[in-house]
Amino acid sequence: MENNRTMGNSIKNDREVRSGDMVVVGQQLATIEEFLPDKESTYTRNGKIFAARTGFVKFNLEQRKIDIKTHLEKDRKTVKLGDIVIGTILFLRKYSVGLNFFTLNQKLHWNAYYFGNIHVSQISNKYIEKIEDAFQKTDIIRAKVIKEKTNEYDLTTIGPNLGVIYSDCSVCGTGLERVGHNKLKCPMCGNIESKKIANDYRDIKSDLRY
Ligand SMILES: [Zn+2]
Repeated sequence: MENNRTMGNSIKNDREVRSGDMVVVGQQLATIEEFLPDKESTYTRNGKIFAARTGFVKFNLEQRKIDIKTHLEKDRKTVKLGDIVIGTILFLRKYSVGLNFFTLNQKLHWNAYYFGNIHVSQISNKYIEKIEDAFQKTDIIRAKVIKEKTNEYDLTTIGPNLGVIYSDCSVCGTGLERVGHNKLKCPMCGNIESKKIANDYRDIKSDLRY
């Protein structure tokens, strides 16, 4: 232990970069005498170890390892398969919708948002002919994470508690009211829209708008 502490102290004093610091590509981190370079996140030149990516550096003094985690990777660890998330529909494609999600089931509010996709086959147990019959841009939905991809997640809204939890009228912007299993009606202009609605539509206690 005494040995470790001495080593830790001397390295800390000699080094400009410390564990948890943000580093940029090309920044010198240490020498190969001190640490074992990480193949993924560092490179070596002339006996020195440099950052191969921008992110947060971690020095493991006991194992003499260095690695760099990007901010997204660090945050992404909090998203797991099966998580129930709340997000806002950004756009509609022919066979899927794209959305941002920020909130893990009202408990955790991430600083960054994540990007999700819902394929038409993952919207409802019932056949959805057109995406527009289930979602519109700006709808706030609750969905479940079913697959992790490189920079995004596949989600599903199959199930009674998943789907739209808040929606504005696409004609006049007024909050829509539920009038049927899959129908919402505007109290202002009378516009009726089809949706995949969660069973607690507009009965959400916390503030969902950002
Ligand atoms: Zn309206």
